[in-house]
Amino acid sequence: MTDDLPMKTKEIEGAVYLCEWSKDGKKFQIRVRDNTKWSVEGTSFEEAEARLLEIMNEATGDMQPCFEYRPEPPKGVIQKRFEGPGIVVVSGANDPLDFAGDPAELFVGGICPVCKKGIGKRTKIPLIVRQLPRASDGATVRIRVSSPFVSFAIPIYSSQFIESLNPQERRHFEWLPVVSLTKAKTPFSEPISTPLVPMVMPKGLFNEKDRLQPDGFCCENCGRKELAGIPQGGGGIYTFVSEAALPQPLPSCFQVGQTGSLELCMPRKRWDELVGKPGTRRLMSRQVGVVKRSWVNPNPNLEVLPKQTSNCGSK
Ligand SMILES: [Zn+2]
Repeated sequence: MTDDLPMKTKEIEGAVYLCEWSKDGKKFQIRVRDNTKWSVEGTSFEEAEARLLEIMNEATGDMQPCFEYRPEPPKGVIQKRFEGPGIVVVSGANDPLDFAGDPAELFVGGICPVCKKGIGKRTKIPLIVRQLPRASDGATVRIRVSSPFVSFAIPIYSSQFIESLNPQERRHFEWLPVVSLTKAKTPFSEPISTPLVPMVMPKGLFNEKDRLQPDGFCCENCGRKELAGIPQGGGGIYTFVSEAALPQPLPSCFQVGQTGSLELCMPRKRWDELVGKPGTRRLMSRQVGVVKRSWVNPNPNLEVLPKQTSNCGSK
């Protein structure tokens, strides 16, 4: 991790490529914007994308390249149903950094021993990481709590990304600087704001008899209710909000969720203005599902996490 080569190799894994696509008659074509050699065709969008993955793997050795499409790729049924006014989450791709401090200091009530999430408001204690990314304008800081497998993540953004926002958008957030233990060229910050809306669970994503997991959890110790990170049947949408709860007009940059699991969002139109410009290196967008009032599940199936008794602590 200390010399240059492994870091560079690491940064090629999961690189983000800006792609364009078009449909010519029955053929779908996908091109990588900055490399005319990477151009493919297929009878469906998925087929063309599979070919693109193949040639990218061969050319770069990157088994997990990410494609950010302009225009948006063709939408499936779920994506269309929850299109709403067109909102995306904007976050760094494939740059998880480990938090190098004490998780309990990050929230006024510390970390809940039962659900392992923060209790109460975010304190002013900054996130600390060993190293900040050099070729990305976004990343996530992984906060490991009590064991290697229990963690949550906080997204952070570079000063260039923050500069790419307009003054009104910037003022909407408190930008808590991230502390890097090694000298960093570009400073990063963690955006904090009162979330515009919480996340919701839509009804009817799957048949109840096919249920694989609860929709989320409800912690009896700290009172936190949180929906699962990957909703079953969500068709690749991880974040759902209620259309009825969204203010009009929609702000051009905001957060949804709750403290400790905030996501930075924008109307897709606003992201379209920024993408590809300075401050958006390796940033990815993904759809926020906007759920009509009658489709919001008022009683999601939450697993109750009971208050801990003295002998069931798992450190
Ligand atoms: Zn809890």
